[in-house]
Amino acid sequence: MTSFPLLAQPLTVGAVTLANRMVMGSMHTNLEGNPGHFDQLGRFYAARAAGGAGLIVTGGFSPNAAGRLKDHPCVMASAADAAHHRRITGPVRAAGGRILLQILHAGRYSYHGEIVAPSPIKSPINRDTPAEMTAAMIAETIADFARAAELALDAGYDGVEIMGSEGYLMSQFLAARTNHRDDDWGGDFTRRLRFPVAVTEAVRAAMGTAGVLTFRMSALDLIEGGMDDDEILALARALEAAGADCLSSGIGWHESQVPTISGTVPPAAFTGATQAIRAAVSLPVVASNRINLPETAEAALAAGQADLISMARPFLADADFVNKAVAGASDRITVCVACNQACLDHYFTDKIVTCLVNPKAAREAEFAGGPAPVTKRVAVVGAGVAGIACALAAAGRGHAVTLFDRADAIGGQFRLAARIPGKADFGRAIAGFAAQLAAAGVTLRLGERVDASRLTAGGFDSVVVATGVDPRPLDIAGADHPKVIGYTEVLSGQVVAGAKVAVIGGGGIGHDTALFLAHGGGGEEGEVAGFRRQWGIGRDRVPAPPARAVTMLQRRADRFGRGLGKSTGWILRQELRDYGVRQIAGVTYRHVDDAGLHITVDGRDQVLDVDHVVVCAGQVENADLATALTVAGLAVHVVGGARLAAEVDAQRSIDEGARLGHRL
Ligand code: NAP
Ligand code: SF4
Repeated sequence: MTSFPLLAQPLTVGAVTLANRMVMGSMHTNLEGNPGHFDQLGRFYAARAAGGAGLIVTGGFSPNAAGRLKDHPCVMASAADAAHHRRITGPVRAAGGRILLQILHAGRYSYHGEIVAPSPIKSPINRDTPAEMTAAMIAETIADFARAAELALDAGYDGVEIMGSEGYLMSQFLAARTNHRDDDWGGDFTRRLRFPVAVTEAVRAAMGTAGVLTFRMSALDLIEGGMDDDEILALARALEAAGADCLSSGIGWHESQVPTISGTVPPAAFTGATQAIRAAVSLPVVASNRINLPETAEAALAAGQADLISMARPFLADADFVNKAVAGASDRITVCVACNQACLDHYFTDKIVTCLVNPKAAREAEFAGGPAPVTKRVAVVGAGVAGIACALAAAGRGHAVTLFDRADAIGGQFRLAARIPGKADFGRAIAGFAAQLAAAGVTLRLGERVDASRLTAGGFDSVVVATGVDPRPLDIAGADHPKVIGYTEVLSGQVVAGAKVAVIGGGGIGHDTALFLAHGGGGEEGEVAGFRRQWGIGRDRVPAPPARAVTMLQRRADRFGRGLGKSTGWILRQELRDYGVRQIAGVTYRHVDDAGLHITVDGRDQVLDVDHVVVCAGQVENADLATALTVAGLAVHVVGGARLAAEVDAQRSIDEGARLGHRL
């Protein structure tokens, strides 16, 4: 008996019956732009189909050259294009899956030399101004959508999703902000509505009843000059009349100044908007955004907010998400931590997408292979994320693995991260790893400090050192003053900082620690009403007051936060601004005494009168054990921060651990 009876229910959508209510939502992987990568893409989707996803939607393919997202041929416009796609649909069908091609015309969000839009208005996130589409171009584009849908069916897809949200071409026609036309395609909302409706009618006519047609519409635009609530519902009704089988929710435009998918966003924060659409139409509707657990999905279904739940990133984190949930093993799901580090940030920097907590994602072939030919006794020392990843991969190949840690709990730096506001999912990810370790039969030895003699006596065939990092100590006079504390003491709750605090270091940990201090709470999620107040959704912004006065410092005379993630850094910077956190760059640290932190900035000496100086000055390798083992003549493998602390992060640590475990 499944714990998620609603989620596990089949549903008929247009021409197909889906096995359950879980949709793997569209997400670009950077494999779409090169048919040479389609086998890899096929393996990636097939793994999710085999893992139980009821429906998969591809990343967006443009119906013509003008609408492509980047300067690569990510287009479905010819029989030759369709033939390539058989390498995606074939493996998905073989795995028993259902898959839709997403047709996306990016309009003014395209990044190449020939961009078009309803009106020649530049987007704030693109350097280029689009050319205004003529009436003839609009007619051609409608026909191109219809042709792409026909080709999708030829290529073996179950149908198509028309991408009509997030600020792409459809949104650009719908919103007064971007549609300044005064012809048949612009003006009042009835005319702004015509283009998405015409595309939907044309796609329906092209596919007949054979193909599923979902339309991803904006349930909330979250921009000035976007659709209002009545217009959104009018759009939903018009799409139903035009022949859509299903309406999927998009939240916000890419240029919105409101977070929509980061950890800052409370779970299921936007399902109310989907529920309003559901009440306006008789089609199945799909909820999305910040739903990363089966419990959250089931609750949204139970509350009547949606008929289907779309997740994109959680399917990167765990291909078997649905099978685990339905089989009563949801505690073993690898939880997406909403970091965007290896998915969206890879996409934006033209790297092939993967997942921080699951390095196998979109690299399935690199981790293929069955049980190890010879099983070994493996010791992994350090139960941070590198050690956990190594232990799980090695146990998965049949090795007998013992995982040691001097702490009395697994998780290492992830446990500290879980304390940061908006990062509660890091704690859930650790719980998922713990359940997986137990299920894999890994022997856990926590609260034990191991040394060379213990490991030698243990008769292990392979020893892996994943002892991680130690915080870099402050090396100025007064570093031993009681005011000076480390970020681990602050985040673990060992020390409660005073009302005035200086944070030394402007890296990721400095920023996170400053947020923790200014916020004053732990990593628990905020409630939706507070989030809406903080970010001004449906009202003026009313940021919460800071818990204490925080000043961040760094030596380099550079902008703070340059190294933060492309898709999340702006949110963290805004949160710190909202809390009034001061940032001083170009600092020379002199000393700490009872008066506070003495610094020099621009040649002027100053004293920061603070209760505490929190050191976030980077890390150094915790390599003592690796050195001792090598001296004792033992062959060891060293992974993660213990191997190289410089710029180590969880992504590199997990990747190194998993790859080593797979090789042992
Ligand atoms: P980091 O990014 O290397 O930053 C270390 C900071 O310490 C720098 O701002 C540096 O600034 C300062 N520093 C270095 N040596 C110092 C010294 N001797 N005395 C005083 N200050 C010193 O390291 P981290 O912040 O510890 O982060 C570790 C890794 O985790 C990074 O890869 C980071 O990207 C990742 N991470 C990211 C996030 C996030 O994106 N939110 C959160 C946590 C961790 P100056 O040299 O200019 O003084
Ligand atoms: Fe989720 Fe981070 Fe993985 Fe992206 S990289 S899927 S946000 S855990």
